[in-house]
Amino acid sequence: MVAFRAAVLHNAAKVFLWESVCYLSKLEACGMPVEVKPRFVVLYGSQKGQAQSIAEGIAEEAEQHGLVADLSCLNETTKYNLEKENDPVVFIVSTTGDGEPPDNALQFVKRIKRKALSTDHYKHLCYALLALGDTNYANFCNCGKTIERRLQDLGAKQFYATGYADDGVGLEVVVDPWLEGLWNAIRGALSKMASDRTAHLKVNTEDSAEETPDSSTPDVQISLLSITDHQNCESVGAAVETDSKFACAASSVASVVSDLRPASPAGSIGLASQCHGTASIPTSAPKTQAGDVGVPHVVLAASLTCSLPPLSESSLNVPALPPPYLDVSLQEADTIEQIVGPLNKETLHEVPVSKAVQLTRGDSVKTAILLELDISAYPMMTYQPGDSFDVFCPNRAAEVDNMLSRLGLQDQRNHLVNISLRKDTKKKGAQVPSYISQNISLLFLLTWCLEIRGIPKKAFLRALVEHTGDSVQRRRLQELCSKQGAADYNLYVRDPSLSILELLTAFPSCSPPLSLLIEHLPKLQPRPYSAASSCLTHSGKLHFAFNVVEFPACTGRPMGRRGLCTGWLFDLINPSPVFPGKAESSNSPALPKIHVSLRPNCSFRPPSDPSVPFMMVGPGTGVAPFIGFLQQRAEERQKNPEGVFGETWLFFGCRHRDRDYLFREELEGFVSSGTLSHLKVCFSRDDREDEESAAAQPRYVQHNLLLNSQHVTDILLRQNGYLYVCGDAKNMAKDVNETLLEMIKTELQVDQLEAMKRLAGLREEKRYLQDIWG
Ligand code: FAD
Repeated sequence: MVAFRAAVLHNAAKVFLWESVCYLSKLEACGMPVEVKPRFVVLYGSQKGQAQSIAEGIAEEAEQHGLVADLSCLNETTKYNLEKENDPVVFIVSTTGDGEPPDNALQFVKRIKRKALSTDHYKHLCYALLALGDTNYANFCNCGKTIERRLQDLGAKQFYATGYADDGVGLEVVVDPWLEGLWNAIRGALSKMASDRTAHLKVNTEDSAEETPDSSTPDVQISLLSITDHQNCESVGAAVETDSKFACAASSVASVVSDLRPASPAGSIGLASQCHGTASIPTSAPKTQAGDVGVPHVVLAASLTCSLPPLSESSLNVPALPPPYLDVSLQEADTIEQIVGPLNKETLHEVPVSKAVQLTRGDSVKTAILLELDISAYPMMTYQPGDSFDVFCPNRAAEVDNMLSRLGLQDQRNHLVNISLRKDTKKKGAQVPSYISQNISLLFLLTWCLEIRGIPKKAFLRALVEHTGDSVQRRRLQELCSKQGAADYNLYVRDPSLSILELLTAFPSCSPPLSLLIEHLPKLQPRPYSAASSCLTHSGKLHFAFNVVEFPACTGRPMGRRGLCTGWLFDLINPSPVFPGKAESSNSPALPKIHVSLRPNCSFRPPSDPSVPFMMVGPGTGVAPFIGFLQQRAEERQKNPEGVFGETWLFFGCRHRDRDYLFREELEGFVSSGTLSHLKVCFSRDDREDEESAAAQPRYVQHNLLLNSQHVTDILLRQNGYLYVCGDAKNMAKDVNETLLEMIKTELQVDQLEAMKRLAGLREEKRYLQDIWG
């Protein structure tokens, strides 16, 4: 019995040595030195791949720090076990939609939210968290915040202050410094956790010895390795303290940068010069675009391809080279099945466009189109007002052609693409992208699978450097992905939404292999649109309205271009945007068809109790879902003339009464029939007769809200009413939110904080709802 206990203790000590000791140690096993690197866990939840690529970057860089990272997606539940995790855990999570977790983190969030979990469920866990979000949307970083709150409720301890990165100003503003501080924090956490375990084991050992004093107990020697790296001996607490200041500084940089862009954020970050996993590129100060040595050209202005001092003369910290991980080969195949349209057709519906109407006049700044889809062939495709649906569009044929010739693969367009993992890859958790299936041609890959309009990330630029011949172009690519060139990256790549093709055109000596594109370009995403009809009014039909997005010409884009999906839809219905009610018959030309799938939205719905008043704010195409709301209300009123129906308000805005007042006749009809109690419209660019009346006239929807402040606050705060906001996320939704805060402050005579709490309460009750985009 005693011998058995001694053996257990001995084994425990061995296990402890192997699993828990923090710093690189050498054990003599069978006479061979064995290296045990301290381990930590990286878990990510990612919708569009940004969180995933940051998590992968961490896992890859771990080795340079003498650590081993176990990388998993949050939905790979067999690969990690938080219930038993004794090493530090790093979470990288994004937020999607209206503050929801990414699809691959949904189950995890559900699991940790279970009420049955005790408050010490995760008391063994030490974590750090990086939350990605976008302040243009409601519920900034909500998924990260939810996970953090629950981890803390369940007893987990934070070892490094949480970073909240804002895609609205550039994720890197917070991500880069957060990553730099992470390594010391991990080392601190490992050190602290190991010493806690040592203490714990010692106590247990002593306890056991005391329990059974027995002179025959063999003397078990547990020799614990000492931690010698002084720098690494910081306590977890110390790491949190120093690094929380650090993360706060990073956050405040974010807000400053959002105000001051394009001022250089690189200078303001002012971080320690340590460059973990980055390489320092010495100055080369190229002064010409052509790069012809000995012929100095005077550079007058910076551009995508050309920088000015101080950047052009600066040493650069560039990210580590992302390890290649895919082997791609092309194979001639006579029998390759020519797939037309998106791949996962079983889950999609192919529906004809049965009507197309231009909603704006020819001289309007924006072109808004209403499309009607005939969904009568799919009776299960019933939708509610407030739902949206996804449109699957291909990349533009001309851009695909261009890409093929840029890659030198025009003649192999119909070849089969074989993709496999590189056997020697250093990339952690490398996988062949799941959205690229077997047996597809190169043409199909570029047309339906990869977002070839995707804005190249810095890691991609870094990888492109290796495939660029011209030294001047190499240096400029290095600048654009460097910490010092962050402002230029924002100005010339991110803000104008430069595509990889546009970038390759600007850097002609860059010739990346196809595998690099597959490794770095995200999946081609479907575009969601809000239903602009009720199926009670338009049985078997689904309407939606959209603006044709225009990207102006800029440095790197000599010609403007249209948005991918809106441009494609526009071309589909051209040259005759109006074919109202054309029926498909054998002798009329076929109606264009598109692939769609429904995206139900369970909260953005009219109140279930029709007697409750509600207000809708939807300028421009943001009015779309409210047409559905009002059509449904009109049907309900018709069916139940004696029913009690609450007041309905619509705040609409556009530039000019005569050019872009969308759905004008229909809205005025709703007013005449009593379906819409109040229609408040404003025109931001119409001439005002005189200065006095101009000052009194509302310009934007929030001004109209303010003019009706009494009613709005009464409905929201006293009548349990609802407020819905739809449309532009970047300006309008924020301005409306600010205005509501002001109105609540005035109405309730409370300060800003209290007003914010009230508004948050309305959100929580799902009486202040947003469906915003842009
Ligand atoms: P892309 O080539 O993908 O370019 C996208 C860029 O265009 C973005 O970076 C952004 O800067 C800009 N952008 C995105 N949307 C707009 C816009 N509406 N106006 C101007 N610039 C824009 N759009 C509608 O027009 N009507 C709708 O009813 C609608 N409903 C939506 C519902 C949801 C839930 C979501 C998430 C988005 C909705 N959108 C709607 C936006 C829509 O999905 C597309 O983003 C938009 O049509 C642009 O697609 P694109 O492929 O043409 O542009």
